[in-house]
Amino acid sequence: MTAEYERKVPENGQRILQPGADGPKPEGKAPDEETSEREVPDLRSLSREELLHFVLSLGEKKYRAEQLFSWLHEKQAESFEEMTNLPQAFRKLLAEKSRLVTLKAAQVLTSQIDGTKKFLFELPDGNVIESVWMQYEHGNSVCISSQVGCRMGCRFCASTLDGCVRSLLPSEMLEQVYRIRKITGERVSNIVIMGSGEPFDNYDNLIRFLHLITEEKGMNLSIRNITVSTCGLVPQIRRFTEENLPVTLALSLHATSDEKRRELMPIANRYSLSEVLPACDAYFEKTGRRVSYEYSLVSGVNDSPEEAEKLAKLLKGKNCHVNLIPVNPVKERNFRRSERSQILEFKNLLEKYGINATIRREMGRDINGACGQLRRSYMGK
Ligand code: SAH
Repeated sequence: MTAEYERKVPENGQRILQPGADGPKPEGKAPDEETSEREVPDLRSLSREELLHFVLSLGEKKYRAEQLFSWLHEKQAESFEEMTNLPQAFRKLLAEKSRLVTLKAAQVLTSQIDGTKKFLFELPDGNVIESVWMQYEHGNSVCISSQVGCRMGCRFCASTLDGCVRSLLPSEMLEQVYRIRKITGERVSNIVIMGSGEPFDNYDNLIRFLHLITEEKGMNLSIRNITVSTCGLVPQIRRFTEENLPVTLALSLHATSDEKRRELMPIANRYSLSEVLPACDAYFEKTGRRVSYEYSLVSGVNDSPEEAEKLAKLLKGKNCHVNLIPVNPVKERNFRRSERSQILEFKNLLEKYGINATIRREMGRDINGACGQLRRSYMGK
């Protein structure tokens, strides 16, 4: 089911932030003003209460707001025309006074190996983002992007090579899930926010997304079936701990010392392990959710048995899980993936020290597997 439409690469004039030499500036405002300051409300990003308020302001009854919410989040409508139980005049008014964000699938690639599907979605402003649909024994999982590009600068990651164009709206995050559900016709039971972008660099929209996707009258997904992955923005981890949204928190660790981590992740220049690890501990204390530590294995850099022992020491006594990711080579960088035997030895050592570890199954290897690679190849890079 590969659909290909005309290529549309964003025109000039998009602001792109490049990670600075001394690392990204996570406190700065993410470049999301371009779309958040539209005059008309973005319907799919409104909470139920806000939608009610808006519908009442248009002179309509309360039950119309409920019907509209259901079209937006339960039936996941693509257009106002579809909303057939709403009067035509109301639909016309909505089209004038608000906007309905709907993503278009510009490309869908299906893996011949495991059925994984990679989606390249076109946003209303012409930017493109990637999302992935994966089938596991325990259900179907969707991996979504939180930004167009990323400004965190992790060395092995393709998403960050051109910096961040802008953050995604809640509607644009939701739409990745809604469209995939519609296109595949399958249930979605898990969502991982592990696509392009740093979710905590788009904090407010992430929170809105989490509230909307778990709405009983909408998609009604369990918050426990959502994973949020971060490179480790400490103030946001602390703030998130207080939100009462017990997702699985995944920390991209990738190294056992600050020195080595700085080589791989510029964010480590800003927050040391002595800050980020206690923030994750506090998340576990407060939510009772076991934290997941991601560790991408790069040959000759962080994959030795000594590193495995150091990692086990670092995580000793924590109720946690280590997700080992064989690095996905990106053509712009010369990182190599570790040998299979080395990866297995690493895992066995962790387990010997009582640390729970899994090797991430490589899904969709044949379809531009690494984060951001499909978007780059689509944009002719
Ligand atoms: N910004 C979030 C989400 C990033 S993607 C974060 O940093 O956690 C999810 C995971 O994939 C992260 O752990 C990221 O470091 C890792 N990753 C990105 N590119 C990779 C690559 N080419 N090979 C292996 N892991 C990669």
